[in-house]
Amino acid sequence: MIKYISFMNKDTTMAASSKHTSPDAQPIDALIVGAGFAGMYMLHKLRGLGLSAAGLEAGRGVGGTWYWNRYPGARVDIQSLEYSFGFDEDLEAEWRWSERYAPQPELLRYAEHVADRFDLKRDIRFNTRVSAAHWDEAAQVWQVETDAGAATRCRHLILATGCLSIPTDVTFPGLDTFTGEVYRTSRWPHEGVDFSGKRVGIIGTGSSAIQSIPIIAGQAARLTVFQRTPNYSMPAHNGPIPEADFEAWSRDPRSYRAASKDTGGGFQNEANAATLATETAPEDIKAELERRWAWGGFRILGAFADTAIDPEANRIVQDFIAGKIRQQVADPAVAERLTPKDHPFGTKRPCVDTGYYAAFNRPNVELIDLRAEPLREFNAHGIRTEARDYAFDAVVLATGFDAMTGAIDRIDLRGVGGRRIKDHWAEGPRTYLGLMVSGFPNMFTITGPGSPSVLTNMINSIEQHVEWIADCLVSLKQRQQTSIEASAEAEAAWCQHVAEAVAPTLLPQANSWYMGANVPGKPRMFMPYAGGLNNYTEICRQVAAKDYEGFIIRQGNRVLSDSRVFTSQPPIGEIPEKLMPLIVERLTAAGLMPAAQ
Ligand code: NAP
Repeated sequence: MIKYISFMNKDTTMAASSKHTSPDAQPIDALIVGAGFAGMYMLHKLRGLGLSAAGLEAGRGVGGTWYWNRYPGARVDIQSLEYSFGFDEDLEAEWRWSERYAPQPELLRYAEHVADRFDLKRDIRFNTRVSAAHWDEAAQVWQVETDAGAATRCRHLILATGCLSIPTDVTFPGLDTFTGEVYRTSRWPHEGVDFSGKRVGIIGTGSSAIQSIPIIAGQAARLTVFQRTPNYSMPAHNGPIPEADFEAWSRDPRSYRAASKDTGGGFQNEANAATLATETAPEDIKAELERRWAWGGFRILGAFADTAIDPEANRIVQDFIAGKIRQQVADPAVAERLTPKDHPFGTKRPCVDTGYYAAFNRPNVELIDLRAEPLREFNAHGIRTEARDYAFDAVVLATGFDAMTGAIDRIDLRGVGGRRIKDHWAEGPRTYLGLMVSGFPNMFTITGPGSPSVLTNMINSIEQHVEWIADCLVSLKQRQQTSIEASAEAEAAWCQHVAEAVAPTLLPQANSWYMGANVPGKPRMFMPYAGGLNNYTEICRQVAAKDYEGFIIRQGNRVLSDSRVFTSQPPIGEIPEKLMPLIVERLTAAGLMPAAQ
């Protein structure tokens, strides 16, 4: 027999849910899956609007990404002044970040602070993973089950499950025979790990590895880095927040945040929309790239308008970074191995590091190129490649995530007629606005596939989604509407627009997790929306203003509004004339534009 979850608490907003001990009880307005930044703000927002809401969270605490990813060196790669909530001025005023890029423990403290400040934990059930959610058409509610065999019902199901929360299933032959310790960066022990005096191997050179390698290298007797594909990494130049930056921010945080949100990436990056690298004198290119490199982080991404589109312009930045790698790594052969060659700059998420390249100058660090000597297997002592045996006391797997869809399609999600999300997404995730899925009424995804999400400052994307969803739920409630569902037609039109936004760029050229390329068998499709957060926000605003264009809205079985179109348009900025032929060529090749006669 199913045991129904009771979200017992004294708060009035939960009055409906506190009675929820049987299938006959009133379902709560919204169940939020996940208590990372998205889930926490969603809960706070809905409560403030007088809706009954509760959360389920697999971890023992809040924080999501920052709860799980406790590996040494973990820190944010967007500046903390921008990577923090802006929805509450008092919260904003009382929190002072210690560094430009806050480390994981501080980010987790911030998450805890937000949870405590807004008294969120009383409505979150921890240690509880959602295993299934089925839409009950007759009752117009979601029936949700957990891995502990408990159940609950809700009118709206909000998936705040994170874009990078489920590690890939990567394993290696013989891994279970290895007698040393095995760690995953994404599931790091809470008590920490002391590598002092140990021989450590690490597999992977993505952001997680790039952040942890310098720290592990400083502790371990020996560190062997197994690299399959080198990545581009820029220096964070981390440290205390420069007084001038803090002053600029604190003079008017509202305007500062508004300016961040009014960018493609959701953070201030001095993006240059007009100057082309291919039309700039070499000495001016160098000066600009040096200036941005010295500033640090992602700033170099915005240097020129053509690097994301024109391979020749991209090559200029690639060569600049290759020079920087050579400057930092003493051994030219190691520098060469660390230099990316198989993908244009920016087409995989670039990394932001503190001392990554310099770590390879240490006598106790060795770089193994898995393309030259493929990993054959683990054995009791360590790793055997095609060339050698390596003995380890500990191995770290920094092998990445089943991004964007992994946390959603691992839930047995079934919509109208019992259709499974896995089947709906068999050829890649299909959503309307990255917010809803056709055939899955009253189910929202915060920063879901098809939204700007991972291409942006996640907190700003989260705030925009939470506020849009909250407005939508209030609108439904006020009009006594019981369900909202993306129409198949609007979903198809949005998917086409997502494809149009990325096709002109170089982004599809990399075997990135954006493309699902890191998970064997996953459909190859560029999952986030590359049209920019500012444009996307405007599209979502238009959709809501047109009485939820593209959605079917019902009251019980009665259809109140049936919109099958998506006509909202992103504001199109100026596109440099020189790039137009390339853009047209790529859109045509992708079948998104008819070929010229
Ligand atoms: P990732 O970027 O996907 O990197 C995984 C690494 O593991 C890659 O180097 C990959 O090599 C390697 N790998 C995977 N399977 C392998 C195998 N079977 N054999 C050998 N190597 C293998 O994962 P991540 O480093 O965890 O980062 C994921 C994303 O999380 C980042 O891009 C970023 O968005 C986010 N993140 C952010 C921060 C931050 O904000 N500070 C920090 C960490 C992560 P290939 O490239 O050859 O597949």
